[in-house]
Amino acid sequence: LSGDDDSMSQAEKEIDKALRPLSFRDFTGQEKIVENLKIFVLAARRRGEALDHVLLHGPPGLGKTTLSHIIASELDANIKMTSGPVLDKPSDLAGLLTNLDRNDVLFIDEIHRLNPIVEEYLYSAMEDYKIDIMLDSGPNARTVQISLNPFTLIGATTRSGLLTSPLRARFGINSRLEYYDSALLTSIVKRSADILGSPIHDDAAFEIARRSRGTPRIANNLLRRTRDFAQIKGDGTITVDIAQFALNALDVDHNGLDEMDNRILNTIIDKFKGGPVGLSTIATACGEESETIEEVYEPFLIQEGYIKRTSRGREATELAYIHLGKIPPRQIGT
Ligand code: ADP
Repeated sequence: LSGDDDSMSQAEKEIDKALRPLSFRDFTGQEKIVENLKIFVLAARRRGEALDHVLLHGPPGLGKTTLSHIIASELDANIKMTSGPVLDKPSDLAGLLTNLDRNDVLFIDEIHRLNPIVEEYLYSAMEDYKIDIMLDSGPNARTVQISLNPFTLIGATTRSGLLTSPLRARFGINSRLEYYDSALLTSIVKRSADILGSPIHDDAAFEIARRSRGTPRIANNLLRRTRDFAQIKGDGTITVDIAQFALNALDVDHNGLDEMDNRILNTIIDKFKGGPVGLSTIATACGEESETIEEVYEPFLIQEGYIKRTSRGREATELAYIHLGKIPPRQIGT
């Protein structure tokens, strides 16, 4: 259900594009961040200057890429997209930077995964809009300094803790996106259903919303799958019965935890006596990458109170036991 670009068909990508909010007005939630960004964008436009560099962090699917497109569009600027792991060497970055028009936006996804040499190169670009380019090699090697057009770097990361402090310090605007509550997700689901032309009952929209791990991308994906069920099993209208049927068929449980969430909780409880247990041990036992557990699954499980992070590792909480229908250890024998 991750909805990664690589795993999507062309038709799904089209739908994804259609559902993407295009202006601050269409963007639901993250109110404080949006209010601030509106002001910063307006002020930069009035001065005719580039917007300060922006760092957006938070779990995947909360709208970092969407917001970046909106910022560029509200600045009336172009946006160039790239990502940390793709920028192998300084010349890759130089190619992008020298092609930016005045006040354009450069978006770097997964900016915590920049090669350190490329990162260092970015510093002077961000600070003074200048870069050094190496001409020739060997004894003739020399560098020339090139001036860039003023630009805005928008960095997105799921792991702001992995950013080096010199890089972090160069962002004037630093915003953390939060998980969405069910009411916000309900309005996102309704808006998306409307765009898709799928009739949906209010209680069905709420049911999908509350089982979407606080994440718009997941809400949209679940809506799309539920719409398939409504078309095949019903008359096309998404009712709460259809929604429940579809969500169960998709292995999304009544609290909105998916199969991997439950596997993680079961593993900590059954294999490691409820913890504490280290992240990499959990990852191996669950057959998932540690990084994915830490970036995607754990933040939600922690926020919802199913696991705790302690200095000795991860622990399942009483709520996790209750959720899985198991008896919490404290209660055994009492
Ligand atoms: P991220 O970059 O944080 O991983 P995206 O910006 O790609 O997340 O968002 C994933 C999808 O969720 C988008 O295609 C968009 O349709 C939807 N989405 C995200 N945030 C919102 C929002 N606030 N309102 C409506 N839809 C949203």
